[in-house]
Amino acid sequence: MSEWRIPLSDLSYGVEEEEAVLRVVRSRWLSMGPEVQAFEQEFAGLLGVRHAVAVSSGTAALHLAYLALGLHAGDEIIQPAINFVAAANMALAIGAVPVFADIAGLTEPTIDPAEIERLIGPLTRAVVVMHYGGYFCRMAEIKTLCDRHGLFLIEDACHAVGAAYRDSQLRSPHGKMAGTLGDIACFSFFSNKNLAVGEGGMVVTDRDDLAERLRRLRSHGMTTLTWDRHRGHAASYDVLLHGYNYRLDELRAALGRVQLAKLTDGNARRRLLAAEYRRQLESIPGVQVVFPGQEANSACHLEVMLAPEARLRDAIRARLAEEKIQTSLHYPLIPDFTAFTQTGSGKAGHWSRSHEFSQRAITLPLYPTMTTEQVGQVCDAVRRAIG
Ligand SMILES: *Cc1c(COP(=O)(O)O)cnc(C)c1O
Repeated sequence: MSEWRIPLSDLSYGVEEEEAVLRVVRSRWLSMGPEVQAFEQEFAGLLGVRHAVAVSSGTAALHLAYLALGLHAGDEIIQPAINFVAAANMALAIGAVPVFADIAGLTEPTIDPAEIERLIGPLTRAVVVMHYGGYFCRMAEIKTLCDRHGLFLIEDACHAVGAAYRDSQLRSPHGKMAGTLGDIACFSFFSNKNLAVGEGGMVVTDRDDLAERLRRLRSHGMTTLTWDRHRGHAASYDVLLHGYNYRLDELRAALGRVQLAKLTDGNARRRLLAAEYRRQLESIPGVQVVFPGQEANSACHLEVMLAPEARLRDAIRARLAEEKIQTSLHYPLIPDFTAFTQTGSGKAGHWSRSHEFSQRAITLPLYPTMTTEQVGQVCDAVRRAIG
């Protein structure tokens, strides 16, 4: 697998994960049983939120969040132009229109509250924010805006599992966790996320009515689960709405519980490595990092630097690849993707900051089992590539 000397990310997996899978295999119950229930409860407990609903992916989580909120065809959903494409794709899946907003700045690549305000129109129903790299959006400002205009606030918290803002009231109330700041929030447990099970996700909310709709929509709109009927709690079922099969299986839920127990330590390790990255990268002429000095408030999912100039970016990445250091780009601009230019969705926007960001950003390796020596090797390689 690894031709890379330092890969972009790596699993923090050990014997506990092996034992968890074995436990499920031996239990002979494979989907939507005690492991899923326990995973949901433990996840809700970590966030301090009333409901956590486990689903099959982060994309499914976003789809169900839109549906549970009653968003539908023709609604406009304001969201960042710099994001993974899932939130925009799922808007189109329900017939809604993703309206793309620029980022706040090159070193703050999260949605700009002023841009949200500019884009709000009569058809706007919701705002999606994405805590880029695990760093909070300007939540206090955005929440006020959504309240004032009667808009739903959805957190795409796929990068930010376990992030808590520690320092001030500027972005979110002190100590509140990412995923607890809007009406509903979505998480992904894809292989390269801070909490990884392969494929999986979670929707969280404090609202009882949303949680009930989420649970129904997750499993065909049915009133009861196989597990309830297995335990003799229900003889039959009704179908109350047109749902999906977005269930999570027991194997992945069991992996999720082990990964959840490791999350706090894993994120702390990521913060330490991120602080070391920043110390070294900031001494390289022309190089900037995103959210400088903010690691303490982040889940540190990604370590992202800006090349001094757009024209140097690909050369730096190529040079790192030669040294067997894997890099990535988070993200190309969504409204520039072929499928999005052709639908014409997204309205006439000017995403000048997002454009420049997507031309200068480089994602560097970061994962809890990485060593500080490896961070030094990556930074040395960047220094050589530029110098
Ligand atoms: C990973 C990710 C998703 C999609 O999650 P999947 O589990 O891959 O469907 C959505 N948004 C963001 C920001 C992500 O990082």
